[in-house]
Amino acid sequence: MNKVELAKIKEKALQDHIPIIMDETLEVIEKELERFKLNKILEIGTAVGYSAICFSEFLNADGRIDTIEREKDRVEEARENIKKAEVGDKINIIEGDAVEILPTLNEKYDMVFIDASKGKYPFFLKEALRLLAPNGIIFADNVLYKGYVLSDYNKHKQRTAVRNLREFLKEVNELQENKQFNTKVLEVGDGLAIVSRM
Ligand code: SAH
Ligand code: MG
Repeated sequence: MNKVELAKIKEKALQDHIPIIMDETLEVIEKELERFKLNKILEIGTAVGYSAICFSEFLNADGRIDTIEREKDRVEEARENIKKAEVGDKINIIEGDAVEILPTLNEKYDMVFIDASKGKYPFFLKEALRLLAPNGIIFADNVLYKGYVLSDYNKHKQRTAVRNLREFLKEVNELQENKQFNTKVLEVGDGLAIVSRM
């Protein structure tokens, strides 16, 4: 991977106010992944490809990332960025709405990164669990949404997102209670949920 290009991609994304993964969140994910072998990664929410390029470093030699993005302009920019970063052969961008794309996928993924519309997190979790390999791990970003999710805050234009994130966290807790999964919700960045099999 070309780190000089990656730094430029990050700088431009921040200037353009694209909500790319925060450094501290990326560090936590990197640490968690030390004990995993990653052949296939699924990302929901590519934006301009920054996180996918970062994750490509965690892949096995012949590993691949499928990443979904619905905004055409972002897909185009992401395609240019993965070429510049010299990881184009590792990252497959799927253009379209994840709500429609996910049900058509049937592969198993060692890692799923959920980082798209917050109102859809319960659906994304359901699909991520269906697509997860036996020893896979799921990360979901922005699950605490600037603190709104755990406060009594409910008068806001984003209340549907907040309600659905609360539903998502409830489902994550139930996975833990049923002893099927190990789950954690960390206050790092904008809130990071981690779900892995026991
Ligand atoms: N993972 C990226 C940031 C993603 S920002 C990074 O860290 O670098 C969230 C992206 O998800 C936005 O570009 C938005 O257009 C896209 N998105 C939101 N809802 C979506 C959906 N339902 N299907 C596909 N893409 C979606
Ligand atoms: Mg995010």
